Amino acid sequence: MFSELVIPSRTIMTPGPVEAHPNALKAMTSTILGQFDPAFLTIMDNVKEMIKVPFGTKNQQAFAIDGTSRSGLEAALIALIEPGDKVLIPAYGRFAYLLGEICERAKAEIKYLEKDWNNPFAQEEIIQAIEEFNPKIVTMVHGETANGQMQPLDKIGAACRQRDIFFVVDMVATYGGVPIFVDDWCVDIAIGGTQKCISVPSGMSLVTYNSRVEAVLDSRYQKELGLSKDERNDHHISSNYLDLSQLQRYWNSERINHHTEATSMIYALHEGLRAVINEGIENVWARHQLNNDALVAGIEAMGLGFFGNMDTKMPTVTPILIPEGVDDGEGVRSMLLDVFHVEIASSFGDLKGKVWRIGNMGYSSRRENVLQVLGALEAAIIYCGGSVKAGEAVNAALKVYQV
Ligand SMILES: *Cc1c(COP(=O)(O)O)cnc(C)c1O
Repeated sequence: MFSELVIPSRTIMTPGPVEAHPNALKAMTSTILGQFDPAFLTIMDNVKEMIKVPFGTKNQQAFAIDGTSRSGLEAALIALIEPGDKVLIPAYGRFAYLLGEICERAKAEIKYLEKDWNNPFAQEEIIQAIEEFNPKIVTMVHGETANGQMQPLDKIGAACRQRDIFFVVDMVATYGGVPIFVDDWCVDIAIGGTQKCISVPSGMSLVTYNSRVEAVLDSRYQKELGLSKDERNDHHISSNYLDLSQLQRYWNSERINHHTEATSMIYALHEGLRAVINEGIENVWARHQLNNDALVAGIEAMGLGFFGNMDTKMPTVTPILIPEGVDDGEGVRSMLLDVFHVEIASSFGDLKGKVWRIGNMGYSSRRENVLQVLGALEAAIIYCGGSVKAGEAVNAALKVYQV
C-alpha cells in the first residue's frame, strides 16, 4: 500500500518551474477530449493564436511541442541543420552550450563565440563574427537563466536577415516576462517555455517561425510510411517525434496523424496564456519589472552583492553573491525550503556555491512572494551565521511598492 499523495505548499522563487496559475491547474482536471474532436481542435486553434502574443509576432505558425523547453530548441535546430552546416553560437552562459550540444548531435560545424558570463555581447561583436564565419544559422539565448543576463537582439537579427542567415533564439526564460518582438527583431524561429513566465506546468515547449522556415520545412517533409508510401524525402528531418514539418501539419488544417496531443497540458496552456493576455501583455511586463525592482532594492538594502552587470540583468532572474559565513549557501537554501517553504535556486558550473538565483516569473511574480522571500532570506542568512544589514530589506521593497 502506498499512501495518497500529500504535496507540501511552496512559494517558488526559482527560475522555473514556478507556481502554476490556479486556472491552469483547474483546467487540467477537466475531462479528456479525443485528439480530433472538433471541440479540442478549436482549443488548439485558440492556443496557436494566444502563443503569438508574448512572442510579438504575426507569424502564421505558432504551436506547442510535447516535451520540455529543450524539445523546442532541438526541433527548431534539427529542422534547419543538415550535416556539415555551419552554426555560430554566441555564448555568454550555460544554455548556449545546450544549443551547441544539440547542433553537435545534428552533425553541424559549430563555432562558439565565447566570453565571460558577466555581460551579454555587444551586438557589433556578434555581427563581426557572422561576417568572419559566414554561418547558415546563428543561434543564441535571449535570457541566460544561469547567470541572469539578457542579450539585445535587434541588430543581430537584422544582420542575419540581410545575409540570408537563419536566426534561432531560445526565449524560454523571457517569454511572457519581458518585452519580446520576434518580427521586429528578425528572429526566424523563437522558442518559449511553459514552466517559467506563463505559469503552466513543465512538459511543453512553444515555437513560432516565419515563412522562410516554412519553406525549408516544406522542402524536407516526409510523410510517414503508415500514412502514404509515395512521399519519401532524401532530406527529411532526422527525428520523427520532433519533426516540425510533421508537427505543423498536425497543428494546421491538414491534421495529419502524428502524436496524440497531451490534452490536459493543452488545457493548462490555454488557461496560462489566457491569464497573460487578459492581464494585458504590457501590464504583465510591468508587473515583472516592478517585482524585480522591489526584489533588487531589498537585496541591496540587506547589503548583499549581485553577480553580473545590473544594466543587462533579466528582470526575471536575480543572481545574488552568497555572503561570507554561510559556506556554499546550501544550508540557507535548505532552511528556506524546510522552515519557510520558500524555494530559491543555486547555480551551475563556475557559479555553483557562489551564487543564489531568485526567480521572478509568471504567477510566482507577486508582491507577497517578493516580500516573503526577502524576509525569509534575511532571517535564514543570520541564523546560519552570515552577516547582513538586518531589518532593512522588506522595508526597502515596501518603498518600491509605495504601499
Ligand atoms: C529552463 C531553460 C531551458 C530548458 O528548459 P527545460 O524545460 O528544462 O527543457 C532552456 N533554456 C533556458 C534559457 C532556460 O531558462
